[in-house]
Order: sequence, then C-alpha cells, then structure tokens
Amino acid sequence: MFVINLTCLKCGTTHPMTPTSYICPTCEHGSTDMDTDIGILDVQYDYLAAQEALLRGKDNNSSRSDIFRYIPLLPVKQPADVPHAGGTPLLNAPRLASRLGLKSLYIKDETRNPTRCLKDRATVIAMTMAQEIGVTDFYCASAGNAAISLASYCGHQGLNCHVFVPQEASQTRLNWLRRFGANIQVSTGNYDQAFDEAETAGAKYGWYSRNCAYNPFLVEGKKTVALEIGEQLGWQAPDLVVSPVGDGCTLGAIGKGFRELSFLGLTDRLPRLLGIQSEVIQPLVHRYHEQSITQDQRTTAAASMAVRRPRNALRLLKELRASEGTMLAVSDSQIAAAQKLLAVEAGIIAEFTSSATLAGLMKQAEAESLAGKTAVLVITGGRLDSDF
Ligand SMILES: *Cc1c(COP(=O)(O)O)cnc(C)c1O
Ligand SMILES: [Zn+2]
Repeated sequence: MFVINLTCLKCGTTHPMTPTSYICPTCEHGSTDMDTDIGILDVQYDYLAAQEALLRGKDNNSSRSDIFRYIPLLPVKQPADVPHAGGTPLLNAPRLASRLGLKSLYIKDETRNPTRCLKDRATVIAMTMAQEIGVTDFYCASAGNAAISLASYCGHQGLNCHVFVPQEASQTRLNWLRRFGANIQVSTGNYDQAFDEAETAGAKYGWYSRNCAYNPFLVEGKKTVALEIGEQLGWQAPDLVVSPVGDGCTLGAIGKGFRELSFLGLTDRLPRLLGIQSEVIQPLVHRYHEQSITQDQRTTAAASMAVRRPRNALRLLKELRASEGTMLAVSDSQIAAAQKLLAVEAGIIAEFTSSATLAGLMKQAEAESLAGKTAVLVITGGRLDSDF
C-alpha cells in the first residue's frame, strides 16, 4: 500500500491512517451544527512508488478491469472478493456531439455497475477495508442509490446493513432495500436530516461508515471513474467532464483522479469540471459563484442530488478551482428533455439526476462555443423511479 497519511481538507493537519480514521481529530470538536465542513480527510500517497507499481503492473492487478486495476492508488492492500465495480464503457455519442457543436461527446456509462450506479465504486472500498478489520455492520445515509449499493454488497457478504433514507425516498428504492433485507430507517425529514440521524446512530453503535462525506477512503473508489476515462481516451484528458452534484463527493473525486493522472505524467492537462445541480436545490452553485443562498419551495425529481447541506463542499470547491471549472443549475423540464435525448440519440437509459449532465452541457453550450472540444458526461446511475 502506498498511502502515506491523511490530510484534513479544512485545517491542513496530517494524521496517520487507520481503517476507521474518519474525521480530522483537530477539527472534530470545533465544528458547529450548521457547519457543513467538519474536517473531512484526504488520502495522500507516495506517488513515486505508486507510479512505478502502476506502470510495471507488478502486483498483477493491471489485468483486472474493475477498480482494483488501479490498486496502487487505492487505500487497500488486497482486492476483496466482492461483485466487481467499475470497468464501465466509455461510449461515443456523435449525434449528441453535433447537436452541441462539440468535436466529440463521450458517455461514461456508470449504469453498468452491479447496482446500476457509480456508488458501487465507493461501496467496494468500504467492504474491502472493513474485511481487513472484521466488521459485521455497516451504515449509510442515502437518497437511495448508496443505500441500495451497500445493501446489495452486504447481502452478498451476509453482513448487516443499516440505511437512513429521506421521507421522500421513492417506493422503487424502498422496495429494493426491503428485498436486500436492509434495516431501513425512514427519516421524518429530508436527506440532510437522514444524514445527521445516520451519523448519530453510526457513532452510537460503532458500525462501519459508508458515508462518502465522512469516511475519507470512499472517494478513492469513486475517483477510479476518472482514471478509467483517462485510460479509455488513450491517456488524453478531455476538455470538459460533466457530473451531477449532491454532497460534492462524486465530482470532487473525479477532480482528484484527473489531478493524479496529470501528476503522474500520464496525461498532460486537467479537464474543466462542470458540476450540475437542480434549479430548486443549488447550494454549491451559489457557493462557487459567491452568491447568497436562496430558499426555493419547489420540489425536484432529481432525488440523487437533492442535498441542501452539502457535506463535501471544500473538496469539490478545491477541485473546481484547480480545474478552472464551474457550477450551473438546470430545471426539471430541461432534465426531462435530456433524459429522452440520451435514450433516443445515445442509447443510454439514465436516471433523472444523471440526465442533468446533458441538460447542463446544453446550457453551457449557449454560454460558450464548444467547437473543437471533447466532453464526457458521467452518467452516474440508471435507476428509474418513474416512466419517462
Ligand atoms: C449520489 C449520486 C450523485 C451525487 O453524488 P454526490 O457525491 O452526492 O455529489 C449523482 N448521481 C447519482 C445517480 C447519485 O446516486
Ligand atoms: Zn482538520
């Protein structure tokens, strides 16, 4: 393993790694209730040694196609014997590219993961690390996808799963959780309340955390989506990478993955990150553009990014700045139109939230010319909560 330590994204102090090093010990006790950045840690590697292991493929994992292909850049010793996450296709979508005036548009098809969602990449890291220390119980807070992912992997391993979901969680998602035999706590509130309830219970019972905005190892799994995109494009970084944004873990992880590729000399630049939120719930759009946050009473069908108190904001903001990226918001009707276009013109059945990537890029195409550019839409999931 090439991890050297964990660095706090908030105060910058470094700490040794253990499988249950979650929040920065320096920041942990100083945060206030409404403070969304409580001191999340970031895994640091010995990149010189990791690079050598990666290039030589001397650990025999370079023939794998799942996330463990990149094990020198992961905080685990051995691949766990669990359903494979990652190794998803990068599809060319020429019809959408010409619609947007792009040179090329690619779709990173995360619907091909075991539970139809990018969340499996993080769950595999949680299962692997927990296996090293003999954990039997896991928990997470989730609008559905992370919970379904965790419940499925716990089902495969015969372990206990405790999930905390918002009151508005769809019946489809609840049915999957019941099917997997998860212990389900339906909050009386929204995702943000479910998150607090999960952390309280997790601390009380000592369960292993599968919250990406808490357990620092999980974003390492998510960043493999960027490592794959780089490799699939022949070690060329695209100009733009577009992802929906809830807590900020996913796009923050993608930014870290691309920075690592460029730091290792595998690519020669960083793509600009384009983060998309719903017009109804867009705290990170406002924060990035330093606008005051306005309350909106409308609701959105983009459940997987309906996060009012984003918990991994510092990580995302850092990556947006490093990549000279931006954040923008789209309406549900723009997302609905994009969902149909993705199906009809790119052969992708994307979930509503993930379709916001195309809606966002179409909006960006009105603000700047995309001529000659290559963009990647990260289609984070494929779970359908309703017909479309
Ligand atoms: C979780 C999720 C997101 C948002 O990820 P964050 O890490 O919360 O920013 C986007 N799309 C889908 C399908 C998700 O499940
Ligand atoms: Zn700290």
